[in-house]
Amino acid sequence: MSITSATASELLAKMSSGEISSEEITLACLEEINRRDAGINAFLSVQQEAALEKAREVDQKRKSGKPLGKLAGIPVALKDNMCAEGVATTCASKMLENYIPPYDAHVVEQLKAADAILIGKTNQDEFAMGSSTENSAFKTTTNPWNTSHAAGGSSGGSAAAVAAGFSPLALGSDTGGSIRQPASFCSVVGLKPTYGRVSRYGLIAFASSLDQIGPFARDVRDAALILETIAGKDHRDTTSLDADVPEFTSNLEQPLQNLKVGYIEHLHEEGLHEDVKAATLQALDVYKSLGAELVPVTLPHAKYCVATYYIIAPSEASSNLARYDGVHYGYRSQSFKDKDMIDMYAASRGEAFGDEVKRRIMLGTYALSSGYYDAYYLKALKVRRLIRNDFEQAFQNVDIIASPVTPTPAFKIGELVDDPLAMYLADIFTTSANLSGIPGISIPAGMSKNNLPIGLQLLAPPLEEERLLRAARMFERETDWHLKRPQ
Ligand code: GLN
Repeated sequence: MSITSATASELLAKMSSGEISSEEITLACLEEINRRDAGINAFLSVQQEAALEKAREVDQKRKSGKPLGKLAGIPVALKDNMCAEGVATTCASKMLENYIPPYDAHVVEQLKAADAILIGKTNQDEFAMGSSTENSAFKTTTNPWNTSHAAGGSSGGSAAAVAAGFSPLALGSDTGGSIRQPASFCSVVGLKPTYGRVSRYGLIAFASSLDQIGPFARDVRDAALILETIAGKDHRDTTSLDADVPEFTSNLEQPLQNLKVGYIEHLHEEGLHEDVKAATLQALDVYKSLGAELVPVTLPHAKYCVATYYIIAPSEASSNLARYDGVHYGYRSQSFKDKDMIDMYAASRGEAFGDEVKRRIMLGTYALSSGYYDAYYLKALKVRRLIRNDFEQAFQNVDIIASPVTPTPAFKIGELVDDPLAMYLADIFTTSANLSGIPGISIPAGMSKNNLPIGLQLLAPPLEEERLLRAARMFERETDWHLKRPQ
């Protein structure tokens, strides 16, 4: 297996046996980026010099026999909504085009402490709003399996970077599916942890009751490994949970006994692509052949997920994005009425936010405004509670729930961008995990007839990432979808 298609765990083993150095690995990734990223557009910036310098430092550290971190010498790509000290962090927005954070996000501190190499910042939808990276102010990421198709979003750059051989690992954020959906489109593993499992200190906020950071990897073991590194309590994010972080890698190979896999009987019928349906049914068969019991579950309120999400997420976004006023942060217009502060705000926001961000701010402001608050926002919060209750009920009878990640394989670039509602509706399978705070994973589980990847989503109760990863690994051991690489 070549350096650029190997997993982080394979590369770590090769480094510890002295077969290869971090410098060689980093160089191979950088060469691949330089050679091919012009056609993929996974990266907004590549930290070439800094990455090589850090790689040499880690190689030295290894030679000197000093203790090494868990990801020593492994390149990691970061979605461009996570702050890294001294490195442009744009959120793919003109608003933050020139923003250079003076501090590291918690996850970046953790990666640095683990001796990982930050290789670059990846493309995304502006402020993480979207499903295709077409809302990036700078470029659209293409799918490494077929460049006329979307890589997904909003963390499309991170997913494409891992799939295309640019970086063995990446981080993304998932507010309504933005890790799992691009993972599914690009045939990599993508994990959204439990809400609060990973600190969001230094993550640029989209919708604070939903946002969560998580990994992209080439297999389940690597996802477990990086999750171990970034998870845990951090007092700077008050929502971060004070819960033990198990060594997710240690029990990974032990199959779960008497596993009960829930599946949603009727959610699948309308609008589900036949290849996605077939792959999901085949995946259920794999579990059955492993001795798992398949149990139908009913989630009566799941059909309201998209509506609920698209009230709550824009409402929170409208509040979070109020800070971009041209004064404290970011872009300031050069053309506004002299001494008119309101005009300055309006001009700055009008010029620097893209259409989708504006649409969300308007939707959210409307849903929160007096007279509509009860009918929309408050109602959505109540439905959210019901969705959560559905999962609590379901998990009394099953250990995990399996479903598609997306109703279709990767759509074409340009196909949905002018139809926001159609784009929103495709979030039907992913938003429930964010609304209920539970962990979810997307794993490679098939290919469509025209050779586009199909993922399988597994969901588990809060803080049961270990169960989720072990269940995912059981599937992975039986299948070879995760071993396929785009040409
Ligand atoms: N597609 C969803 C949206 O547009 C998800 C975004 C996300 O998870 N960041 O809001």
